[in-house]
Amino acid sequence: MDKDVNEKLNLLAKLQDIDCEMDAIERLKGELPEELEDLQDRLIGYNTRIERIDEDIKEIKNEISTYKVIIDEAKELTKKYTDQRKGIRNNREFDALTKEIDLQDIEIKLSEKKIKENKNLIKEKEAAIKETNTLIKNQKADIDLKKKELNEIIKENEKQEKKYTDSREKIAKKLDKQLFESYTNLRNNLRNKLAVIVVHREACGGCFNLVTPQRQVDIRARNKIMVCEHCGRIIAGIDEPEIEVKTTK
Ligand SMILES: [Zn+2]
Repeated sequence: MDKDVNEKLNLLAKLQDIDCEMDAIERLKGELPEELEDLQDRLIGYNTRIERIDEDIKEIKNEISTYKVIIDEAKELTKKYTDQRKGIRNNREFDALTKEIDLQDIEIKLSEKKIKENKNLIKEKEAAIKETNTLIKNQKADIDLKKKELNEIIKENEKQEKKYTDSREKIAKKLDKQLFESYTNLRNNLRNKLAVIVVHREACGGCFNLVTPQRQVDIRARNKIMVCEHCGRIIAGIDEPEIEVKTTK
């Protein structure tokens, strides 16, 4: 047995074990982080919607003010023409002034109609704001709930996670850089994230292909780091309970 190889294999097995535990914690968090992000994005969307509606309302209010000015002017003109008409004996001039007064009356009625329409529009917009605010309120409650859930999971596992991270760093330092990188690359490319396995019932614990008796002898000997010839996983040993490698899928 090569002492150096033996040490490396033990470290790799330990590393895999820690990573399995950390993966399990991540699975507990599940979809919560993504869901939270999604909810927060939607919240931003709702707030933007409200800002836009507020802008619309401001514009509509400006329009209403313009119509009010038009009405005031028309009323003044009506008063002026009515006064002028009092002193008129001439039919033609009298009719001309009456026509002007009628025109101002139409202008006033039209503006009043527009104001009424715009006021209804504001009511609609305000209802939309109210509706969106309800959505925001519900969304915020949902976010709070999910945050609480996630924080609980984080808090529950904080110490453990810290312990794992520390151990992981220590192992990474002890392993040579190249080996650590191969492990990481291998792990990242595997669906079940098991880069280090043991041989179980003559088969690779990762891909379940048979390991030849000669290779089993080499694995047992621990003179060099053996990898599965089918899947490339690092073989830490042969079904030996003292090697803590998780082979569950
Ligand atoms: Zn394999």
